[in-house]
Amino acid sequence: MQPDCPSVLLIYTGGTIGMIENPETGALETFNFDQLLRHVPELKRFNYRIASYQFNPPIDSSDMEPSLWAKIVRIISDNYNQFDGFVILHGTDTMAYTASALSFMLENLAKPVILTGSQLPIGTLRTDGKENLITAIEIAAAKHPDGTPIVPEVCIFFENELMRGNRTTKINAENFNAFRSFNYPPLAKVGIHIRYNEHFIRKPASYPLKPHYLFDTNVVMLTLFPGIQESIINSVLHVPNLKAVVLKTFGSGNAPQKKWFIKQLKDAAERGIIIVNITQCQSGAVEMKRYETGLQLLQAGVISGYDSTPECAVTKLMFLLGHGFSLNEIRRNMDSDLSGEITKED
Ligand code: ASP
Repeated sequence: MQPDCPSVLLIYTGGTIGMIENPETGALETFNFDQLLRHVPELKRFNYRIASYQFNPPIDSSDMEPSLWAKIVRIISDNYNQFDGFVILHGTDTMAYTASALSFMLENLAKPVILTGSQLPIGTLRTDGKENLITAIEIAAAKHPDGTPIVPEVCIFFENELMRGNRTTKINAENFNAFRSFNYPPLAKVGIHIRYNEHFIRKPASYPLKPHYLFDTNVVMLTLFPGIQESIINSVLHVPNLKAVVLKTFGSGNAPQKKWFIKQLKDAAERGIIIVNITQCQSGAVEMKRYETGLQLLQAGVISGYDSTPECAVTKLMFLLGHGFSLNEIRRNMDSDLSGEITKED
């Protein structure tokens, strides 16, 4: 191996990709990373230096939480200068949350951080895990002729598409094609060739990596539906220590015009609770000035989440709250594109 050969650190957190069927119960259980590598002998054919770090025990991503995001960030930051890129093997269920959180925690990122996983365990015949893993490694190591990384971003690679991590949502519990970035074009399409969509890829930061570790989880997501009761909204908005709400509204950011509803939101905003409006639709953005119903929310102190995914809105809020910013600073940051997560037409 050449001394200057590409180098990638694999961080194995768990998830289906590294699971095996319990012969007695039939349920999928995690197994360790050495076994995972045994199932992908192809990795030896890369002329890369590939090292690994394994969560012990590996976890189903339903158990993912901010302290584990911080652990991932610590591993990346401790190894940042030793590797060209990073691949995180992660369960698909909460991968979009982790990708969104990392995009804020890794400020000034200038190297690829690619999350991937699979719908079928890597030991099964028809697994999607091998291809996902092998291509993710290739993308993590990919460089321009001048030696700079092609994708210096937190991304999800899944089934032929490379997507900006904080734009992704899990859309399918069965298909190999499990993730979608509805509001931002793919950063690369993978077929015979890996075709990068250079125009949509962020430029690497020119400042040193600034890792962040803090989160405040006093937040809630509230999905509106016709018939939602005042008592329920009232209870949610009065949860002790509640600091922020991701409000999933209808269409382009619309909500009931009932007086009690607007008053509940207005009172909560006056108590210092940040309310961010995102749409329940998978695609498109909130435009609060478009309809009277949206305008009323704006007047009540609700702020726009633009075309943010729910995963991104909630992690961004937890991140900003965790850093002790003032109310105004949080509102300003929610209104700003920090890491390519929202489309703002200035
Ligand atoms: N439950 C698994 C997880 O998210 C599903 C998967 O990996 O696809 O960890």
